[in-house]
Amino acid sequence: MTVREQICSRLAWLLVVLAWGNGGQASEELQACGSAMRVAPAKEAAETPRRYAPERRVDVTRVTIDVTPDFASRTIQGVTTIAFTPLVKPLIELKLDAFDLNIASVESKAHLAGYTVADKAITITFSPPVLPGDPTTVTIRYDAEPQRGLYFRTPQMGYPESDVHLFTQGESHEAPYWYPSFDYPNERFSSEVICHVPPDMTVLSNGRLVSEQTDAATGLKVVHWLQEKPHVNYLVALVAGRFAKVESRYRNIPLAFYTPVSQIEYAANSFEGTADMIEFFEQELGVPYPWEKYDQVVVADFVAGGMENTSLTVLSDGTLFTKDTENLRSSEGVVSHELVHQWVGDYVTCKDWSHLWLNEGFATYYQRLYDGHRNGQDEMLYDLYNTARWITAQSDGRPIVNRRYKEADEQFGWRTYSKAGWVIRMLRCQLGDALFRRVIQAYLERHALGVAVTEDLRSVIEELSGRSFDCFFDQWLYNGGCPQLDVSYSWSEQDKLAKISVKQTQTADAGPFVLPTKVRFRLGEQTVDRDILIDSAQHDFYFALHTEPNIVRFDPELTLLAQVTFDVPTKMLYAQLDDRADMVGRLLAADALKEKKDKKTVGKLKDALNNDPFYGVRRAAAAALQEIHTDEAFEALVKSMDQPDARVRRSVVELIGGVYRPEVIAHMESVLANEKNPEIVITAIQNLGRFHCPQTKQIISKYLQSTSYRNELADAAVGAIRTLNDPACIPELMQTLRGREQQFQSWDFARGLGTLARIACDQEDRTQVREFIAGYVSHPRQVIRRGAIGALGTLGDPKAIPIVETFCGSEPHDPIQRSAKQAMDRLQEKKPLVPDEVIELRKVVDELKKETDKLRKELDDLKKQNEARAAASKTDEKAKDSEEPM
Ligand SMILES: [Zn+2]
Repeated sequence: MTVREQICSRLAWLLVVLAWGNGGQASEELQACGSAMRVAPAKEAAETPRRYAPERRVDVTRVTIDVTPDFASRTIQGVTTIAFTPLVKPLIELKLDAFDLNIASVESKAHLAGYTVADKAITITFSPPVLPGDPTTVTIRYDAEPQRGLYFRTPQMGYPESDVHLFTQGESHEAPYWYPSFDYPNERFSSEVICHVPPDMTVLSNGRLVSEQTDAATGLKVVHWLQEKPHVNYLVALVAGRFAKVESRYRNIPLAFYTPVSQIEYAANSFEGTADMIEFFEQELGVPYPWEKYDQVVVADFVAGGMENTSLTVLSDGTLFTKDTENLRSSEGVVSHELVHQWVGDYVTCKDWSHLWLNEGFATYYQRLYDGHRNGQDEMLYDLYNTARWITAQSDGRPIVNRRYKEADEQFGWRTYSKAGWVIRMLRCQLGDALFRRVIQAYLERHALGVAVTEDLRSVIEELSGRSFDCFFDQWLYNGGCPQLDVSYSWSEQDKLAKISVKQTQTADAGPFVLPTKVRFRLGEQTVDRDILIDSAQHDFYFALHTEPNIVRFDPELTLLAQVTFDVPTKMLYAQLDDRADMVGRLLAADALKEKKDKKTVGKLKDALNNDPFYGVRRAAAAALQEIHTDEAFEALVKSMDQPDARVRRSVVELIGGVYRPEVIAHMESVLANEKNPEIVITAIQNLGRFHCPQTKQIISKYLQSTSYRNELADAAVGAIRTLNDPACIPELMQTLRGREQQFQSWDFARGLGTLARIACDQEDRTQVREFIAGYVSHPRQVIRRGAIGALGTLGDPKAIPIVETFCGSEPHDPIQRSAKQAMDRLQEKKPLVPDEVIELRKVVDELKKETDKLRKELDDLKKQNEARAAASKTDEKAKDSEEPM
């Protein structure tokens, strides 16, 4: 799964697209802060229970789900049959997960004593007990109005009639909202999905299509899918509705890409790489694509970025894009991520959520590997470089394999995606490409159509490599944190010796890391590599070289996930910035040169911005110029606006907009007048929000009224208004949101409500805004409901408390209740009786008083000492007087 939880800004959306490159979570990208340390888990974490896979008392062999959805009432009728065999003990009770299902009847081939239904489970009792090894079935009839797990998208909710559909989402524990089941990934079974829909609708599910016929009695189309090879419960999926498709084949595997009918023109952009990806993953993993077909389907307002149901991936409609965004939008990351899950996640599944990295870390790693294959190794290194900087800045010291969590959903984060992906990279670096491939193939074959835990992987690695990986797994998977390395270099001309000192500075509760890597010296055209092993807190390494190197690189191949501080002389940075063979070295040099202010450095960076062969270095040079902040550096940026690569062009526009100079307005106006790429126009509009003047407000207002693909330019104007934070914009923003609700994407509209609340929160009379936002708290779209409830919290009007209160409840992981709780906390926040400034002033006075007391005491002491000396000298004089020689 790629996660898209709690993201409601365009910036965050772009970050999530980037994060697909990093396999990470945009919501966390936004919160990147703190320092990297190997920290002990927080006290709360220690109090969190340890989680394990539940006991399997029966072996579930097949689940058959027969569903008839009613799109108008957003309800379903279902009949689910579960075939199973008790494993060891005679079975008296079978307990199944069933969330808010209205159970009508239960039947069984065995003799039923009865059944009881609770909100979250159904317990079926047998008398006599079913004996171990005796296969039997239970059939449960029910209806439901699912709040999660199965999501409707209908005209009553504001979606186009032409696009009406529903989709399901199983991971982590949502499946029981639409059918009763043993809902945990340590159980595998075959599944069948039968769905009854109006004749013009398409039905998609896992596996192969068995039949499609019309039921004469109801006039409904009955579509029957069968997933024969066993898979786990969270991968069972159903998508039904009005869809259009594009299709092709990879060898004998049918491939299709479905979108809601109104969006089919964009399908090809996202679909085109699929066959190439399957071929690549088959070669890399050594295992043929394991299922009968591969369908991808785009749905409206999906709950995540994508979800890898067995042979049926569901994707967010945010993955669709138009070609005029050049290379700024791509769905390649999310498409390859979900595709590789068909092996890592679906074919072999983590046994419990503490081993989630076996799914998500691998999907993140192979997504990146495909990126390198498709777009060049520098592309992959660039991603690793950026991800490492971000991961090592996180302060969460929990390990990747973590049993302490309250809910499974908490496991889906940067540790199991980005960090685990990087750890797999290190594993590959240590094993070498060929052995790594053999290990992964053996691991997948050994656990094919089964479940795995971390130790299963380690034992395969050790068996095939003949080496111990205890230390590697211990430091990277069973413990948290990342190394922080202070590296320094010096040269002795007399001894012809280079010295590299490495100090591990992370606070270590589990001892220093063991880190094999290398250092690289460039001696003119010659390259000298030396392997080093860092296995203690401090090391000095000496290297005899025939001449002084012009470049020194630590870990030149980016094989360590570490925060490295390495100060080298400026002349070396210049040489590094020019080294065409070393993209990462050039990135590091551009970043380090931002500390210099001189004209020579500005010239070097400007040259890199306009001439470096890799776009990432050009962007890094632009960022450095902005940080230098001199007139020359700003001028260099402005003169470099005309960039052929849209990625660099947008960076330059963004960076210029981030400088507060009056002339920036004219530069942004010129971008708006000339730029064709909508993503860069969006950047320029948002930048204008930093400048309070009638001219910018007029432009922002113009774009607020504009129409564009997905209303993106109007949304950018909302973003600018948020930055402006000017209450004068309230009436126009309110009018736009009211009049154009249907044109905004749900997330963007929700953010619009938040923006309105934010710019109105300091107003004395917030009645009108409160009433306007309150009009959306019962909206049929969950995203907008949540946005409205959150906005009431932001507005901070205590009169909203009774409204928000009605959404609070005891279910901490219900998204609406969670938003309501956060909003209530904000609404009930007490303003301190004494303002912060006064508290601060009091602290200063207290400090001063302490200082004064100290000084007074010192003065007293001095006085006493002087008095004592004076007294002593008098006595001495007297003594002297008396000691005069006779
Ligand atoms: Zn995933």
